[in-house]
Amino acid sequence: MEKIDKSSSNAGKYDATDNRMPENPGNDEIRISKILSVLENTYPDATTALHFKNPFQLLVATILAAQCTDRRVNHVTERLFKKYKSPGDFARADLKELQEDIKECGLFRNKSKNIIAASRELLELYDGQVPADFEKLVKLPGVGRKTANVILANAFGIPAFAVDTHVYRLAHRLGLSDKKDVLGVEKDLMKKVPRELWIKAHHWLIYHGRRVCRAINPKCAACPLKDLCPSVRVS
Ligand code: SF4
Repeated sequence: MEKIDKSSSNAGKYDATDNRMPENPGNDEIRISKILSVLENTYPDATTALHFKNPFQLLVATILAAQCTDRRVNHVTERLFKKYKSPGDFARADLKELQEDIKECGLFRNKSKNIIAASRELLELYDGQVPADFEKLVKLPGVGRKTANVILANAFGIPAFAVDTHVYRLAHRLGLSDKKDVLGVEKDLMKKVPRELWIKAHHWLIYHGRRVCRAINPKCAACPLKDLCPSVRVS
């Protein structure tokens, strides 16, 4: 089961137990539809921040992004993808040299091992292509549920809902899920958000989580969702 940093799923000093439902929130379906509409209007251009030119580059970038900022990953991959241009290049890479190449992203020992092993499996099993298939993706070294969903959605345009720490936190605060595990939250979101919006909604929630509904001290007073959010605190 993929772990989520619980310290950021709650609001830190923000007391999530003292919920106050907005007056006349309407039924949940209407409320969720309004939330999605507000998010769409607020973040019309939301998309992945990782830079990539093909599914394999996104796979490598997503492995590197674990516990690292997208900005730093982009900085590293800009030179990395000039040096290693294909799964074959990574499969033949010297482990120590690759560790040095990706050091800035942190967890570089595991990440470099996984990138080399995943590249070798891609060559052995899939002719060097990243499979557009969840079950095959999650069997690759270094690829968990979230990474597989990120790749399906962003590299192949296949509807999927990747649950990261922002999506997990916002799903709870916005009353979209009360599940305590990533898979449960993912299933709730897939049930409550129309399938054609899964990819976009994932990005909207991440944008909103980074800019407004932060883990600590969410900016409720300035939040465009404050009339629809059961966790609102407006001081
Ligand atoms: S009102 Fe907005 S910022 Fe406050 S908890 Fe709800 S979504 Fe987050």
